[in-house]
Amino acid sequence: MQRRQFLFKSLLASSGLMLLRKPAVAENKSADDSRAGFPLVISTWAPNVKANAAAWEVLSKGGRALDAVEAGVRVPEADPDDTSVGYGGLPDRDGNVTLDACIMDEKGNCGSVMFLQNIMHPISVARMVMEKTPHVILVGDGALQFALQNGFKQENLLTPKSEQIWKEWLKTHNYNPMDTIKYMREQKEEKGKGGQGNHDTIGMIAMDSNGDFSGACTTSGMAFKLHGRVGDSPVIGAGLYVDNEVGAATSTGVGEEVIRICGSHTIVEAMRYGKSPLEACKIGVERMYKLRKDKIADMQIGFLAVNKKGEIGAFALRKGFTYTYKLPGGADVIKEAECLLKD
Ligand code: ASP
Repeated sequence: MQRRQFLFKSLLASSGLMLLRKPAVAENKSADDSRAGFPLVISTWAPNVKANAAAWEVLSKGGRALDAVEAGVRVPEADPDDTSVGYGGLPDRDGNVTLDACIMDEKGNCGSVMFLQNIMHPISVARMVMEKTPHVILVGDGALQFALQNGFKQENLLTPKSEQIWKEWLKTHNYNPMDTIKYMREQKEEKGKGGQGNHDTIGMIAMDSNGDFSGACTTSGMAFKLHGRVGDSPVIGAGLYVDNEVGAATSTGVGEEVIRICGSHTIVEAMRYGKSPLEACKIGVERMYKLRKDKIADMQIGFLAVNKKGEIGAFALRKGFTYTYKLPGGADVIKEAECLLKD
């Protein structure tokens, strides 16, 4: 048994503290978590507690972080009620569901698919790109052909619910994607969901009992986007970045803004030079705001990060960005990130 695994197992066996850990909590502030430990799994957005549970199945048996994040994000990918990821994702303005995903492991291996249609689990295709090809990214028809050749089946991903939301949007928005961000924010505010808009992309990071990181990020992207648009989520360094010596970061929100500052890579680099995960996420948001403050009126952007000590931090542009994590001891934790703008 490797030394880290041994230490982790003896710690569990000898420490009553682990078992006395508080049950699930929802708190209104974010902070680097002092109860750091591993294995661990963290995800953007509160409903992804379910995704974390699937990842935890792998991690708690001593499995690899890479397997954990793939298993975890497949949960929202298959969920027809999650309108931001995989099956049931909101379509582009022409009614096509187009998916983006990427995955990265502890050795810097990574794979990505962009603008993939009719395949429910883009994350598993991204992993196959990473493991079975000499490439990092496949897009569109090429990604689809690759998926089909590797046994994935083609299916319609537009659910009646998403089709109805799209048709409503068409009636009022005159085929104009420029209004979408505002529209989606208003829709969610009306429904009392906290006004985060159409941003429920899952970015997940896991650290396994060897202390190794992997991450995965998967999305149907911005609702009613122009056909062919790709955001930050499948872009290594923007939507996700893993550096096994330092930590990992992921993002959610308007991808164009995240790409501009190479968001997740920027955050990992800040941690490399001594910032905590919370400080690093704040640096990312502040940099983006400085660059774009006149243009981001209705936008949300959130970052989530973890360092090698297992400390977790998150920061967002505005209120409403929730994240969830699980550490040894059984508790699902849900928190809302601190934010820059108080509106
Ligand atoms: N970041 C994703 C994108 O821009 C969507 C989101 O998280 O809202 O495609």
